[in-house]
Parts: sequence; structure tokens; C-alpha cells
Amino acid sequence: MLKPGATIGILGGGQLGRMLAIAAQQLGLKVHIYSPDKDSCAFDVVHAFTCAAYEDEAALGRFAGSVDVITYEFENVPAKTAAFLAKRKQVMPNPRVLEITQDRLIEKNFISELKIGTAPYASVHSASQLAAGIEKVGLPAVLKTKQLGYDGKGQAKIAKGVDANAAWRSLKNEPCILEGFVNFEREVSVIAARSADGKVECFEVTENEHRDHILHLSKVPAKVSPALAAEARKIATKIAKAFDYVGVLAVEMFVVRAGKKQTVLVNEIAPRVHNSGHWTIDGATVSQFEQHIRAVAGWPLAKPVRLGRVEMTNLIGTEANEAQHWLTVPGASLHLYGKKDPRPGRKMGHVTRVFGK
Ligand code: AMP
Repeated sequence: MLKPGATIGILGGGQLGRMLAIAAQQLGLKVHIYSPDKDSCAFDVVHAFTCAAYEDEAALGRFAGSVDVITYEFENVPAKTAAFLAKRKQVMPNPRVLEITQDRLIEKNFISELKIGTAPYASVHSASQLAAGIEKVGLPAVLKTKQLGYDGKGQAKIAKGVDANAAWRSLKNEPCILEGFVNFEREVSVIAARSADGKVECFEVTENEHRDHILHLSKVPAKVSPALAAEARKIATKIAKAFDYVGVLAVEMFVVRAGKKQTVLVNEIAPRVHNSGHWTIDGATVSQFEQHIRAVAGWPLAKPVRLGRVEMTNLIGTEANEAQHWLTVPGASLHLYGKKDPRPGRKMGHVTRVFGK
């Protein structure tokens, strides 16, 4: 159990690291960020940072020596980096979680073994496997690279009548997973926190709308039945337990209709705080960031209470330049991440609006 004044090391320096650091400071903890990117927006708000490659063992060793525990805000930390650090300091969540979630096929197999539903899927390493995969999952389907995909990058839809091999070539013939296209009613996510002593607290189910594959809007409560909300939270809890997880994770799900009944299929697990949980900073009594910090510090979790109906809108690219008007809107809270370059598709900030219950 960390004492106030102790230091949490965080791998990754984006807005998630920045908001984790701010939450840690509120609890009297210090943060040391490790990121290879010199423009990391988390560097601005911490008492120490290291700008070095994930392969730089001398820098990693110094980092491990200067912190009390290590966590991450970025799931593509190389496995070797996580293993190197885990020999020197406790890394939470445990690096096995990274191995599973860094590969879409291993992740889907893990979810299926827990008897949790997913889209039908098949592994694609060759043209003959692609043909067999289409036979198995049907069309339309989505081809996704097994590794390093996010915000729709590394994905190609295969519609009926299109050349599937051309879709695979567009992904440079990398090892892929082929998923049957899910005709979902809505997309939801559950943000769950698990403490070192195994207690789990889930936030309420969040409904998510994407634009150009990037999260645009999150709404809470999601328009789902109480039974479906309970099922979604149960699934996130089961996954957190199976990982022996410590910290916050997000489970993205599709809501589908099976006859008269709604049910959920798991799309993806993010082993970290998540964009669809940003609403919790202003819309709940405890944020996902504080829950994560509490968990990795070995402290008890809070029971989150939502403060009203909440909507969180991402500010993407130049949208952040026109965000000033939010400053005077009642119930709105503006968050800008301090990034200089508003490239298209880049997450620059977000606005949370809390409405009466
Ligand atoms: P992902 O990178 O897997 O989270 O996918 C990004 C977005 O693409 C999801 O949030 C969905 O909107 C869409 N998508 C991904 N996989 C599927 C699927 N199998 N069926 C339908 N839509 C999908």
C-alpha cells in the first residue's frame, strides 16, 4: 500500500497519462511518466518524466529505480519492456494482460474460453485461410490486423462481391483476424476497476457513437434494459477476475438483438483507462483515473455515484480551436490536453455535459 508522497511510474505520455497524473496528484501521489515521444502532453503535469525509447534498458532501469510501482496508459508497450520492468518493480496490471490484449486473435480466444460471446472470427495468415474464414463467418466481414490496430486503423471491410484478397493486400498481407460483421443496435462499454484485494467496481454502462471509426460521443446511462446493463457489467467483472487484474479496464461491446431479447458481444478489451470513461471526471463522484490510481496504489476503490445524465463529446483535430464557447455553457466542463498540433483525427480534448437527473 503506497503512502502519500510515493511515486507511480506510468508508461505512455498521452492524454490518458496526463489525466491519470492529475488524479494521482489530488491524492497526494507523485507521477513519473516514461514516453519515447518528446511532445508527450503528460510531461506538462508531472514532477518527473523520462523521454527515451521502450528499448533503452539503461533509461528503463533508472525509471524503475525512481518509482514505487509501475502502470501504463498505452497497451502496446513492448512485452520485453514490461518483462524487464517487472523484474525490478511491480507492474500493474500484470504484463500477461498485455500479451493477451496486444493480439486480437489471442484476445478473442481468451474471451471465448470464458464463454463470453464475440462476433464469429477466424485467423487469416494465408489466402486459403482467408477463403476458409469467409466461408466460416460469412459476408460482410471485417478484416483486422492482429496487432497494432486502433481507431479503425488496420481494418478493411469486405462486402459481398468485393475482392477479399485486395482487402487483405490493403493491410499489407499482415496476419489478420476476420470477423463477421455485427449488425449491432448500439455500441456500449463498461469501465471496471479491480483493487489489489480483488474487489470490483464498475461504472454504469456507457453508450458510444463513433465517427470515422473514432469515438465521437459517449452517453450515460446507455439506452439498454436493466437486465442487459447487469449482463454487461457481469462480463467486465468476469474478464477482470480472469486476468487477476489490478487497475481499470474497458470492455467494448456490441448490443445485438436475438429475437425479442437484447444481448451483448464483446468487441475489444482495453487494459487501461479509456476514452469512453472520460465522462466520469465531471459526471461521477469518482473518476476512472482516480479508481486506477487507487487500485495500483493498493488503496480501496470508491463506489461511483453518477451525478446526472451525462454526455461526453471528443474534440478532434481543429475542433479544439473552436471550443471556447463551451466555457460559458451551464453544466459543461472543457478539457484540453495541451497538444500543439491539431492533426486530423487527433484527440485534442473533450467536453462533458452533466444534465439534471
Ligand atoms: P475496433 O478497432 O475493433 O474497436 O473497431 C472500431 C469500430 O469498428 C467499432 O467500434 C465498430 O464500430 C466497428 N467494428 C469493428 N468490428 C466490427 C464488427 N465485427 N462488426 C461491425 N462493426 C465492427
